[in-house]
Amino acid sequence: MALLEVEDLRVSFPVPGSGGDATSSVHAVNGVSLALESGRTLAILGESGSGKSVTAQAVMGILDEPPARVAGSVRLRGRELLTLTPKQRDRVSGEEIGMVFQDAMAALNPVYTVGEQLGELLRVRRGLSRSAARRRAVELVDRVHIPAAKDRVRDYPHQFSGGMRQRIMIALAIALEPDVLIADEPTTALDVTVQAQVMELIAEIQRDSGMALLLITHDLGVVAEVADDVAVMYAGRIVERATVQQVFAGPAHPYTEGLLASMPRIDRRDEELYAIPGAPPNPARLPAGCPFHLRCPRADDVCRATLPVLEPLPDGRASACHHRKELLHVGG
Ligand code: SF4
Ligand code: MG
Repeated sequence: MALLEVEDLRVSFPVPGSGGDATSSVHAVNGVSLALESGRTLAILGESGSGKSVTAQAVMGILDEPPARVAGSVRLRGRELLTLTPKQRDRVSGEEIGMVFQDAMAALNPVYTVGEQLGELLRVRRGLSRSAARRRAVELVDRVHIPAAKDRVRDYPHQFSGGMRQRIMIALAIALEPDVLIADEPTTALDVTVQAQVMELIAEIQRDSGMALLLITHDLGVVAEVADDVAVMYAGRIVERATVQQVFAGPAHPYTEGLLASMPRIDRRDEELYAIPGAPPNPARLPAGCPFHLRCPRADDVCRATLPVLEPLPDGRASACHHRKELLHVGG
């Protein structure tokens, strides 16, 4: 049994102003299944609007409800999370699942020092004494490689740079030693050099702690750096599931192929960067057949008429493409 299992997850939102039809809703996530093992890193890769963040939020239990409607199953060590009461759910957050978001400023409390925020968490959730909590807070700030941790715990969030604030959010996320860390675009708001450092920190903590990491990203370069496995999402569905090595050896889905071709690489400096034509479809108005067909260079009549389902391939991966078998022969 995998540590975290997501099965046929569906998240829908009512469509605003949909012509008086009160039952009209749009599926942001449409039948996503995933499994995450201890000590592994699974990246959910996709463009904005693909449903990757909504998937993560549903797993974390932080979707507004209503209006979001969540169906399917999310199990941690076999225990169903979707049916927990808010109180039970709160206990899972932080202790079993840690979370890191794009915007540290929104996640941190501006009126408390970093040491107070960490200390409060440790006192309330771990029952530590004031002095023990303070010591542990310093250790955690040091653990995320913030220099002069002993002094910095007395500072407020706004006194840190963006990258340092992200490190503090990571310290908060790992303070209760969760089994799973979910990081939703954790470095997207940072400068490129800082991005790499923060990603390296997350990878280092993941390696040292044996935690499982679910990483939400639009950046295939980040996937290459830190992930073991990848689930590529498009229009609310997983279109390819594979190991990172398999994806880089040759994708089994044209969308993944396009993402790979549009990834900046130093060995292709002179060539013009490929871009997948068009834009992701509006989830409220998906085209018939394969949702990628308007952008796909391999689309044919079958693609325009019939929705491809995610099916396993002999090499262990899965692809939702009518032409997946041909792709594997072409791509290696
Ligand atoms: Fe392209 Fe057809 Fe595969 Fe969809 S099913 S990704 S349109 S080849
Ligand atoms: Mg997002």
